[in-house]
Amino acid sequence: MSDYPAHIEIIPQVHLIRGENNARFPEANTLLIDDEILTLVDAGSSMKNIESTLKDLGHSMPDLDRIVLTHFHIDHKGHASEIQKIADCEIICHELAETGVKTFQGMVDFYGIGGHKYYDDWRALLDLRFGHVMSEYTVTSTFSDGVTIDCGHTELIPIHLPGHTIDHTCFGINGLETIFLVDIDLTRFGPWYGNKVSDIEEFKKSVDRVIEMNPSVGISSHLINPVTDGLDERLHAFRAIFDEREQRILDSISKGIDTIEKLSKAPTIYPRIPMDVYYAFEMFMLEKHIELLKRDGLLREENKCFVLER
Ligand SMILES: [Zn+2]
Repeated sequence: MSDYPAHIEIIPQVHLIRGENNARFPEANTLLIDDEILTLVDAGSSMKNIESTLKDLGHSMPDLDRIVLTHFHIDHKGHASEIQKIADCEIICHELAETGVKTFQGMVDFYGIGGHKYYDDWRALLDLRFGHVMSEYTVTSTFSDGVTIDCGHTELIPIHLPGHTIDHTCFGINGLETIFLVDIDLTRFGPWYGNKVSDIEEFKKSVDRVIEMNPSVGISSHLINPVTDGLDERLHAFRAIFDEREQRILDSISKGIDTIEKLSKAPTIYPRIPMDVYYAFEMFMLEKHIELLKRDGLLREENKCFVLER
């Protein structure tokens, strides 16, 4: 049981359905737009929290008209397929999300984990916590960057901000003062880019774009309260983590921790590795840093080990 209410109203008709366990992965927050078109944004909080929120607002699951997905990740598309079976609702996503949302194989391809040495560990995590994401998802239509999704009185403005994943989309709510930042999530862990379809440089640009938009309220998928105080500072701190990690990698290499394998076991990005599958994500993220460091002439590879250029 969580020691906080399952939902809070952020602005009139817009409710944050909080994930369990402080909305930490494998949970995530969901938004409910209680408007003419009853809309969920993502479906990754527990069914219990989604159901109880609907009930508190005088609805039930079959009343849902639409689910808008921010990206293909398992903690976000979550229960969408199950809910669609109950509510016969629309599921809409970014056109770049379709492959990763619709089929299990498409999702494996986007993760880039097929054939990886930690694939079986990833499957074990799914079997343990994500039985509901194994099925096919029926996407009824797609949304486009900047084209408003009308819920009645409430307008959702898709802002395609890739990097975390290729399809990662944030949403302005009735303008750009309040933004659902999704996995520009402002957590202390920092940015996550452990998929084949993740990109560090795109991610940095996306965070910079949010900083330029200068919103007053940022809603994270993995924090139970929207961030208002010090939001700009929090965004800059989140942005700085890319460079902190890069520096850590360079420092480690100078101490002889000079292969992906060794860096992943340090570990470098995750402060601790809760399950073996996290080594896969650690490795994917390290590889992306190494690629950029090589490109920028800061290191080279000799006999399968990294060597600093200066
Ligand atoms: Zn994600």
